[in-house]
Amino acid sequence: MHFQSADINFAIELDAHDELASYRDEFQISDPNLIYLDGNSLGRLPKRTVEYMGNAIERGWGERLIRVWNEGWIDTPSELGAKIAKLVGAQADEILVTDSTSVNLFKLGLAALRVHPKRLKIVSDVFNFPSDLYILQGIIDLLGNEHRLELVHSTDGIIISSDAVKDAIDEDTCLVTFSHVAFKSAFMYDMAYVTELAHDAGALTLWDLSHSVGAVPVDLNGCEVDLAVGCTYKYLNGGPGSPAFLYVKRDLQDRLIPPIWGWFAAQAPFAFDLNFNPATDISRFKVGTPAMLSMKAVEPAVGLHLSAGIDRLREKSVQQSEYLIFLAEQWLLPLGFSLGSPRDPAMRGSHVSLRHPEGFRINKALIESPPPAIRVIPDFREPDNIRLGIAPMYTTYVEIHQALSRIRTVVDKKIYEMYSTQRSGVT
Ligand SMILES: *Cc1c(COP(=O)(O)O)cnc(C)c1O
Repeated sequence: MHFQSADINFAIELDAHDELASYRDEFQISDPNLIYLDGNSLGRLPKRTVEYMGNAIERGWGERLIRVWNEGWIDTPSELGAKIAKLVGAQADEILVTDSTSVNLFKLGLAALRVHPKRLKIVSDVFNFPSDLYILQGIIDLLGNEHRLELVHSTDGIIISSDAVKDAIDEDTCLVTFSHVAFKSAFMYDMAYVTELAHDAGALTLWDLSHSVGAVPVDLNGCEVDLAVGCTYKYLNGGPGSPAFLYVKRDLQDRLIPPIWGWFAAQAPFAFDLNFNPATDISRFKVGTPAMLSMKAVEPAVGLHLSAGIDRLREKSVQQSEYLIFLAEQWLLPLGFSLGSPRDPAMRGSHVSLRHPEGFRINKALIESPPPAIRVIPDFREPDNIRLGIAPMYTTYVEIHQALSRIRTVVDKKIYEMYSTQRSGVT
């Protein structure tokens, strides 16, 4: 991709030609002097969610009371799952919205290990989200410390080579589990190839789609993926802590034993049987009463993604990321930054990491500088990554231009030196 100019007028022109530009108006954007580049951690609030939730609370809960469950709410986990299925290339009955990503990973990971009880190796990588690795370590502990977790390494801190993955998977491997898009560098795996490697060795695959869903097209069925999990509060804009989803390939659904035997996982929850008899479909991976209000908030947001279309969103995300890197190469690399993400867009998700030894303080200065400075909210990931998230639904080219220009000023004028290196709770 080629950009002619680093001039702001060129950014204005790119926005004018953006066919998804009108989607920005769908979001509550109250402060014109705030550039939000953290939609990969917590997506913005869609305006239609506000009205939708008012209705869910006042009419659904307030007026309809217990009756609301039978007026559609009880089907929300599977109906919403069917919509998300369209974004990730799955069948309607292969996705369920439930619990958190961490809990879903626990349920599916543990169930997967029991398919091949004699195989004792789990393959993941050093780029995986710590929660995913902790959950796997906890599963190993729970099963008596017989399994071992092998983490594929990276030689450059940015990508994981396919050869290294290939070398790690063998006949003793029961489960291969990666984040499809790595949270730090945004490296994106070739899902089809890695899934095939795992299957050739007789192992199951479990992909975490938290940093892909809503920004990158995923083809779970086409890649013959066995299991997957993912967040709805990042690119999907479902709201803080909104419920996650899980995917179980149809022909595995009645073969996997759910590890948590909650009443919603039973074939007939309201028969109140004293003995657990699991549902034969994906419902066996439910646990208890769903967090319905937070789940409702995901519906309008997913609707926006379906209408914008995941292919168009990806196309814009690639173009915007390339534009961001184009500006970074001219303005920021000379100031001591390096690119912490793959240069090839085919190997990159929808955020771009820029590394700088003073990354923490630069990030803090971007977020906290008082007016009239423009505020930029990226996020920081240790030790030196500033992550700039492109949310193609609402990020503009002008915002990218202004944000990069602001980063240049903060470093060039050493504004970051006024900020401390003290870490706070949520970064
Ligand atoms: C964001 C994210 C999570 C978060 O899990 P929660 O249970 O929602 O806290 C897990 N895994 C990956 C890969 C993520 O990006």
